[in-house]
Amino acid sequence: MSLHATILTIFPEIFPGFLGTSLTGKALKEGLWSYNAVNIRDYAFDKHGSVDDTPCGGGAGMIMRPDVLGEAIEHNHSGGKIIYMSPKGKPLTQAKVRELSMLDEVTVICGRFEGIDERVIEEYGIEEISIGDYVLTGGEQAAMIMLDAVIRLLPGVLGNAASTENESFEDGLLEYPQYTRPIEWKGRKVPEILLSGHHENIAKWQRQQALQITEKRRPDLLEKNT
Ligand code: SAM
Repeated sequence: MSLHATILTIFPEIFPGFLGTSLTGKALKEGLWSYNAVNIRDYAFDKHGSVDDTPCGGGAGMIMRPDVLGEAIEHNHSGGKIIYMSPKGKPLTQAKVRELSMLDEVTVICGRFEGIDERVIEEYGIEEISIGDYVLTGGEQAAMIMLDAVIRLLPGVLGNAASTENESFEDGLLEYPQYTRPIEWKGRKVPEILLSGHHENIAKWQRQQALQITEKRRPDLLEKNT
């Protein structure tokens, strides 16, 4: 199984960007995922490659035109979901990332300016996804973050598949603190329990720590899971 991402953008040269390095870059070379970055301007109706126009009803900035974006979608979307990276979308969660990692194909629209015409979202049944409560200059950065999280869950991308199981969010909790050698550093020792070799007690301690940290930093996660 592999994932193919069709990315609609006015800056195709941004891709693969950091997705071309490290684990995601190796996975790209090995064909565990592939992408096609399509320039939306190629579907413009004039020779200037215009993709935007002023907002109806007034207001600041420009809006991406439905007709040009619609052409780009219809010529390139080959299956799977269509996602629009958008600050007014549902927040990206690890559960959503896992769901997306099961797909064979996905089309991702990267907005620019003040976003895209609402009718495109309705016409193609597009899912809007936000990567957080802040506003970026463009959807490309958001698309790359979403794809990074999805790609690392594809079969064969991580050496040790078990390494995703105890991670933050996977069981509704933040991860417990982790340590490595040296056992003592600047007078700070690794917690004794982790050196005991007693797997059951270690697992208990890690669970307690995860609960404590989640309670302190993200009580909303605990409420969601009770
Ligand atoms: N006027 C829009 C609003 O207030 O919701 C913001 C548009 S933003 C300047 C331009 C593009 O960046 C958006 O169309 C979207 O694709 C992307 N973007 C910005 N913030 C994002 C976020 N938090 N998550 C996902 N995409 C985002």
